[in-house]
Amino acid sequence: MLAESEINRVLTVTAHPDDVDFGAAGSVALLADRGVEVTYLLVTDGDAGGNDRDLDNSGMAELRRAEQTAAAKAVGVTDVRFLGRPDGTVVPSLELRRDIARVIRQVRPDLVITHHPDRNYQFAAPSHPDHRAVGGATLDAVYPDARNPYAFPELLRDEGLQAWTVREVWLMGGMTPDHWVDVTTVIERKLAALQSHVSQIAHVAGFEEAVKLRWAEWAARAGFGDGRYAEAFQVVPTA
Ligand SMILES: [Zn+2]
Repeated sequence: MLAESEINRVLTVTAHPDDVDFGAAGSVALLADRGVEVTYLLVTDGDAGGNDRDLDNSGMAELRRAEQTAAAKAVGVTDVRFLGRPDGTVVPSLELRRDIARVIRQVRPDLVITHHPDRNYQFAAPSHPDHRAVGGATLDAVYPDARNPYAFPELLRDEGLQAWTVREVWLMGGMTPDHWVDVTTVIERKLAALQSHVSQIAHVAGFEEAVKLRWAEWAARAGFGDGRYAEAFQVVPTA
């Protein structure tokens, strides 16, 4: 695994507004606090989300971009980018791989955090088809696309984007996590980030208790002890 000192720039690639906050906002807060530059890339605007809504899809997209931008601020992230793909229709296409490879070459991250591309058979929510598509396309963009100057040659030819090798990827939502981050000290900021997604969670009774229970279970599994909270990842070396 990369040492802390080797992580200076981080890119998260997720499908919908709120995904990064459920899976990684605590880890992001800890990284940002020690001066790591973090960029969020969202593939959709989450325009098909929300319950009881009276907004059309473009109204919902605009609202959810604003909510994600506020959530990012709660954990120290100001660089939030959107690809604007329609929610619920994402496939790991060549075009998506190119668009993610473009941002990898722009940001030049040491570490990328994204969705696990495999279906989780223990718990349905992490395996939304958009999540699996984004996870797969991101891993393909990390290897081989972003590092190969002959992959998507237009990125170099037309945009001057040099090849870049990401050295490590952390996957969220998989069945076989092997790395746990103790986020106890930043748990209130992770909650604040999640609660920025008002259109998604304002109607959910017992939301805070339910999510804290899940993070406490991760902490127990990691052996962090009572009263601790954790985020869980599977680490993929990609150097
Ligand atoms: Zn999602």
